[in-house]
Amino acid sequence: MQAESNKKPCVAVIGAGISGAACALQLQSLGFEVQVYEKSRGASGRLSTRRTDTWSADHGAQYFTARDPLFIEEVNRWIELGLVAQWQPKLGVYKEGSWSESLSKDKRFVGIPEMTAPTKHLAKQLSVQYETTICGMEKSTQGWALSSLEHGLLVKQFDMVVLAIPSPQVETLLKNISGQVSNLDKASKIANDSKMKSCWTMMVHFPHQSSFQFDAAFINQEAIAWIARNSTKPKRAGLDYWTVHASPEWSDVNLELAKEDVSAELLACMEKLGFNTLDAQVTMHRWRYASGGLEPMIEYHYSPVDGLGFCGDWLHGGRVEGAWLSGIKLANRINT
Ligand SMILES: Cc1cc2nc3c(=O)[nH]c(=O)nc-3n(C[C@H](O)[C@H](O)[C@H](O)COP(=O)(O)OP(=O)(O)OC[C@H]3O[C@@H](n4cnc5c(N)ncnc54)[C@H](O)[C@@H]3O)c2cc1C
Repeated sequence: MQAESNKKPCVAVIGAGISGAACALQLQSLGFEVQVYEKSRGASGRLSTRRTDTWSADHGAQYFTARDPLFIEEVNRWIELGLVAQWQPKLGVYKEGSWSESLSKDKRFVGIPEMTAPTKHLAKQLSVQYETTICGMEKSTQGWALSSLEHGLLVKQFDMVVLAIPSPQVETLLKNISGQVSNLDKASKIANDSKMKSCWTMMVHFPHQSSFQFDAAFINQEAIAWIARNSTKPKRAGLDYWTVHASPEWSDVNLELAKEDVSAELLACMEKLGFNTLDAQVTMHRWRYASGGLEPMIEYHYSPVDGLGFCGDWLHGGRVEGAWLSGIKLANRINT
């Protein structure tokens, strides 16, 4: 649908993660009227940092890479604005009981002073209604009407809706659609075919471990898949905290375990890796939908006849770069 100067098509974007924010801003710059709805109190979704008075730790995405020329350009803009910086950790690999240094030459970027910085920068340029969990969608000849858990039926109606949320949450929302939607079966199949994996995350301070040979490491064949020392990232402050991610396979099997049981298992694994875990101060987080998605990727989904689109990492190879690209590509497609 082409944006005309006299009548701006009105789009609701559900989700203010990096894909939703990128899509919304691109639509806005193309002349669409855009309203974003986000269930939490702030933007950025899984690109996230846990903050307390004494420490902070990135507990979702750890860093991102940039390979596509369009995303490289955007990352360079973020660097110029002081929102992102390169992180050059001494990176280890643990395999079959021994350590080696990683040979990876990837350039790794992080938000500064926290991972939320780039998405928050995009969201500031948008109209975002926070603490609004969209739970129902109705299609009529007037367009789309939305309902939220917090506010019931929303007053505004939309020509189009973009779902920029993980695939299992898309699936749930599609089950709560009413009215005439032509391509609902196809849309549901796309969401249903995408398999997302979970991730148990431990944020931990080790009072008796002052140094370690690596700043971050990929761990193979253990409950843990990744460890990173937050203080080695640029512009981090506070107590020295490690972020520990359990592997997707281990997390899926142990998803319903109590936090205490998960932390006990992950601390035992950290001891095996050479950490002194005495008096460890632990905070746990469970990501039900952390990674994964459609294979092969389809970049985005859009049904012009319904005015319904999906964007997000799960449609574009996973990860931050894919999420951003998916949002931009969907916006450009809507504008054709
Ligand atoms: C533990 C972990 C580690 C990761 N590590 C990396 C990494 O190192 N590098 C990398 O590139 N990527 C990594 N990722 C993946 C990366 O975080 C994602 O690819 C990216 O952030 C996805 O962005 P998105 O906008 O598609 O989705 P999300 O960030 O999930 O955004 C979706 C937004 O929608 C909101 N929402 C959901 N449902 C509703 C609703 N019904 N109504 C309103 N709002 C709703 C959510 O609150 C959220 O803000 C990691 C992810 C996790 C969880």
